[in-house]
Amino acid sequence: MKPVVLLRYIWAFPNTMLGLILAFPAFVSGGRISRIDGVLEISGRSTAWMLQRIPFVGTASAMTFGHVVLAVDEAVHERWREHERMHVRQYEQWGPLFIPVYLACYYAARLRGEDGYYGNRFEAEAFGNKRSVT
Ligand SMILES: [Zn+2]
Repeated sequence: MKPVVLLRYIWAFPNTMLGLILAFPAFVSGGRISRIDGVLEISGRSTAWMLQRIPFVGTASAMTFGHVVLAVDEAVHERWREHERMHVRQYEQWGPLFIPVYLACYYAARLRGEDGYYGNRFEAEAFGNKRSVT
């Protein structure tokens, strides 16, 4: 592993650790775990259950924490892989700051009268829209 790649993993690791903790029920209950391009993709009944009960968000079909992507099932992983990989790259850039800055952008969008998800610059980037908050 090149040093710069190792640094990205270290910088994102606090978030990856959170993802691993959230994935623990899947690890012990037979959830599906794959390592694709250096990212752990985890799905299964426990993961689906969690994604339907996200505090302050509600529901999601997939969610990324550092180098861990949780999804409802394998089909969701395949459908959203490119989008979630952009979030992995964002975690590599922002490290431990990613979640607080993401939430700040979520609420800033709401204050502008936009949707907190679709108006969030990180989601716009993941959807391929390079629009930034102005
Ligand atoms: Zn997203």
